[in-house]
Amino acid sequence: MRGGKLVAALLLIVFMTGCQIKMKKTTEHALDLKNIDAAVKPGTDFYHYAVGNWLKKNPIPKEYSSWGSFSILSEENLHRLKGIMEEAEKVKRGEGGGERIEQLVGDFYATGMDEKKIEAEGTKPLQPEFDKIAGISDTNGLVKAIAHLHRGAAGPLFNFGVGADPADSDLNIAQLFQGGLNLPDRDYYLKDDAATKKVRTAYVGHVKKVFQLMGETKQQADRDAAVVLAIETGLAKVSRSKVELRDPKKNYNPMGLKQLAGLASRFNWPLYFSELALPEWKTYLRFCLVNENAGYLNSAFVNENFEFYGRTLNGAQQLMPRWKRTVGIVSGDLDQAVGQLYAREYFPPQAKARAVEMVENIRAVFRGRIKGLDWMSAATKQRALKKLAAMTLKIGYPDKWKDYSGLTLQRDSYISNALRVSEFEFRRDIKKVGKPVDRTEWYMSPQTVNASYDPSKNDITFPAGILQPPFFNATADDAVNYGGIGSVIGHEMTHGFDDEGGKYDAHGNLKDWWTAADAVKFKQKAKGLVDQFGGYQPFRGLAVNGELTLGENIADLGGVTLSFNALKKVIAKDHPGPIDGLKPEQRFFLAYAQVWRNNTRDERAKLLIKVDPHSPAMYRVNGPLSNLAEFYTAFGIATGEAMYKAPNKRVEIW
Ligand SMILES: [Zn+2]
Repeated sequence: MRGGKLVAALLLIVFMTGCQIKMKKTTEHALDLKNIDAAVKPGTDFYHYAVGNWLKKNPIPKEYSSWGSFSILSEENLHRLKGIMEEAEKVKRGEGGGERIEQLVGDFYATGMDEKKIEAEGTKPLQPEFDKIAGISDTNGLVKAIAHLHRGAAGPLFNFGVGADPADSDLNIAQLFQGGLNLPDRDYYLKDDAATKKVRTAYVGHVKKVFQLMGETKQQADRDAAVVLAIETGLAKVSRSKVELRDPKKNYNPMGLKQLAGLASRFNWPLYFSELALPEWKTYLRFCLVNENAGYLNSAFVNENFEFYGRTLNGAQQLMPRWKRTVGIVSGDLDQAVGQLYAREYFPPQAKARAVEMVENIRAVFRGRIKGLDWMSAATKQRALKKLAAMTLKIGYPDKWKDYSGLTLQRDSYISNALRVSEFEFRRDIKKVGKPVDRTEWYMSPQTVNASYDPSKNDITFPAGILQPPFFNATADDAVNYGGIGSVIGHEMTHGFDDEGGKYDAHGNLKDWWTAADAVKFKQKAKGLVDQFGGYQPFRGLAVNGELTLGENIADLGGVTLSFNALKKVIAKDHPGPIDGLKPEQRFFLAYAQVWRNNTRDERAKLLIKVDPHSPAMYRVNGPLSNLAEFYTAFGIATGEAMYKAPNKRVEIW
């Protein structure tokens, strides 16, 4: 488990089934009108009008907890990556010096598919780790064991990582983040409503079963599960909420080692540790080690892990077949090795050229809109424009790939390979401390179906994985592409100016560049969105958290606004006519809704409302659009309809 990045407000996104990009210019199927549910009026619920039929006809497959454009494309990627990995598996050791990447991918994949061996060895490859934990005899030993696990095997207590110093974005520093919880959020340990209690009880049951699978008696497993819950509850109590964690200034507490040691001593670690006693800490460490690595172990652990994390928390009904799980793990762990092989086959250069052009068109619109803002002073505008101009672009795949020399994998054991990769990544990371930041480095793999903004680098990333239909379709009309990938581009750009990303300057430093008066005005406008989204109730009594989702909602609203205005310029220049009886303005909004179509199981939907900074798909469509005058015009939305907001109730920020 690697230290998470503070950065990257991600855009969890979506897809439609993509035949590979055809180079023939055609607009057929760019927008599938059969998805529309004509029984719903656009003004009542645009999301269900635009994709209602699709939602009805596409139930969630048993292996999935949600199904939409995103998961469909990811599923398609699994098949592509399987082909790549099977080819890599055939590469013979030592054959052709240039085959290192294939060797790594092939070895890892081969061990991951060797079911017989995985079943036979059980947790045996973890024995050296168990021995280390068992050998802890004092507080120092405990601290050492934790540090050892943080090299990649597990992430007990807190997370460690390396990243840019928020105050000096050119310098890499060691970073500590809260962590150590094996449930998705601190609230699961602290809240006492019936739904939370039910999950907590199921979690304790899961912990017990894991200990039993490790060979403990039922009685011992009962006691050990109680210990794990007690330790994690203690951590939860001192953890910040997801909303509090959205304030980068509060998360930034720079200190030297001496100061950290001083802080730790004031905290009285010896007492803290002795209160719970060493054996109990050992219990917690053993659990973290096995629980976090369950996916690499034999079927008993894999199944138990699925029962809790897959079924109970997310509502999935069936474990994915081994090949899908293995492909997913290899693709994630060897991100750029797999990425190189993927990009070679699945990223046409035409896609890059067109996407770059769209980015620049949208940047030009953004520039014009900043200049025209009626609520921002000239001084702040100047700095905003500087930041926008300085924003760099990463598209498709990195110019320079991660250097994997020093990593050797074998065809001996799946979990051993996983630990080798983690240890390699840890060493690679730790070497960066105190060194300059490499601004060209990528944190998303090319095969990822997503996009991101990194505030410390002030850059936006669009991996090859997202530059496919329905986001991006080289053969589609402009309206469809601006509604899809254009809105994504605008979304990521806007992250540089949301309530979180806007606290970083043009060079990626956490430094205030707003005048006090402008900051207040921005906050007032943002409050409008907090209230709007806080008013949405996906489940009775369970509302969207307007504070948690604020940054993403600002980005969604900004993204669709910027992209629509970029399309307007195209319309003014090219005068495109209607297609299938729909004007470009209408096709834009339908394409926007199309990328967000998504069926989600209730379990997962409820989990995401607690932990996901993105609003549920339906509100990512209906929320922003109900603030856009151009949307009202395109579909003739009238007073009194559910989507209608009076002009003075509409929010416009960027
Ligand atoms: Zn986002």
